[in-house]
Amino acid sequence: LSDRLQGAFKNLGRKGKVSPEDVEAALKEVRLALLEADVNYLVVKAFMKTIREKALGEDVLKSLTPAQQVIKVVSDELQHLMGDENVPLNRAAMGATTIMMVGLQGSGKTTLTGKLALYIQKKLDGKPFMIAADVYRPAAIDQLHTLGNQLGVTVYSEGTDKNPVDIVRNGVAKAKSEGYTHILIDTAGRLHIDETLMDELIAIKEVAQPNEIMLVADSMTGQDAVNVAIHFHDDLKVTGATLTKLDGDARGGAALSIRQMTGVPIKFVGTGEKLDGLEVFYPERMAQRILGMGDVMSLIEKAQEEISEDDAEAAARRMFSNDFNLEDYLNQMQQMKKMGSMESILGMLPGMNKQMLAKANVDPKQLTRTEAIIQSMTKKERQKPVIINNSRKHRIANGSGTSIQEVNRLLKQFEQSKKAMKQMGQMMKSGKNPLAGL
Ligand code: GDP
Ligand code: MG
Repeated sequence: LSDRLQGAFKNLGRKGKVSPEDVEAALKEVRLALLEADVNYLVVKAFMKTIREKALGEDVLKSLTPAQQVIKVVSDELQHLMGDENVPLNRAAMGATTIMMVGLQGSGKTTLTGKLALYIQKKLDGKPFMIAADVYRPAAIDQLHTLGNQLGVTVYSEGTDKNPVDIVRNGVAKAKSEGYTHILIDTAGRLHIDETLMDELIAIKEVAQPNEIMLVADSMTGQDAVNVAIHFHDDLKVTGATLTKLDGDARGGAALSIRQMTGVPIKFVGTGEKLDGLEVFYPERMAQRILGMGDVMSLIEKAQEEISEDDAEAAARRMFSNDFNLEDYLNQMQQMKKMGSMESILGMLPGMNKQMLAKANVDPKQLTRTEAIIQSMTKKERQKPVIINNSRKHRIANGSGTSIQEVNRLLKQFEQSKKAMKQMGQMMKSGKNPLAGL
């Protein structure tokens, strides 16, 4: 989506002034981009109507920065479409908050149950309790117990021969009597929506009286995710949605459509198989991400969790400055390793597209080689890479057990990222939209 949109604005950006025809042509690309990203066509239609009026307004056409203005219109409207503000988890007015996961098989319900338990422990300072109510796949109960063990969270289960509605009734009663703050119910899914499943979920809802019915939707399923959301919402009155697997090849379309078609707020996004692969959903960030501006805020927040605030600030300052050297580059990569998957981190950086991600050092083996190369350099070489001539390259390649070509590749990569970050730093300083002038 973002490649496409950026392309659409390239032409607008080059011209000083634009005509209504120029804007129309760009809008046509926006429309195609949204449809390609599996956004529901009704949503696209309404969206285009709003942005056309705004983008063709006098303010935009007469402004000196029409491309920026049009991008702002598109970005604001995308954000608006996704709900403007983050909507937090619902809470019980008194006693334990009950959250029930619903969704198709494989959408990520059990994983989300574990992720939410961790989130509740870490961010809400709560004491979660998990109930295994998927009795159809024996492995499902074990899966939840494994997550419970990892997190030190109690899991309530009964045998696979028991009725899930009874399991939930018993589990909720136990959690309430033992003073837990959050009750997380993992339910069964099917490959397709069927009425037997819906009846069971309705019965579970009756006995659990959840404060939150969390629809778990797989972002990889595109248009289908929206149809599933509509169906579950009709039958269960869903209160929140989590869009999983956004770390993968996901197309952003579902995020746009679900909120529009159901009114249900997206509360979280899943960004990995591991338990820390969960992020609060921010419409503004998602809109920027879709437009390719990256998610610098998420990146900085994530970094702050892992490294101290001062370190992060200093690192960020250096990252965007002229002083950025190979030592910083190595540090940065090592921090990224600590923070989680490189792909999810790099994906948040502005201007990163699929091809760049594929080329980046996402392979941990590759990272080890990069570390070896940089560690084989002298301090002076790391701080001043320009001095690395052929004989030095030879020594570094020998020392790190790599080749001259690999050393060259690393130096080139370093130069490229230094250049990209310097530009970004300048744009942020001048408060300019990084997309301007594309
Ligand atoms: P359930 O059938 O709805 O309970 O789905 P599971 O929780 O068992 O997840 C199905 C598969 O999706 C598992 O392989 C999970 O590891 C994977 N998965 C779940 N959430 C995410 C996510 O956010 N990102 C990625 N990459 N994989 C996920
Ligand atoms: Mg499951």
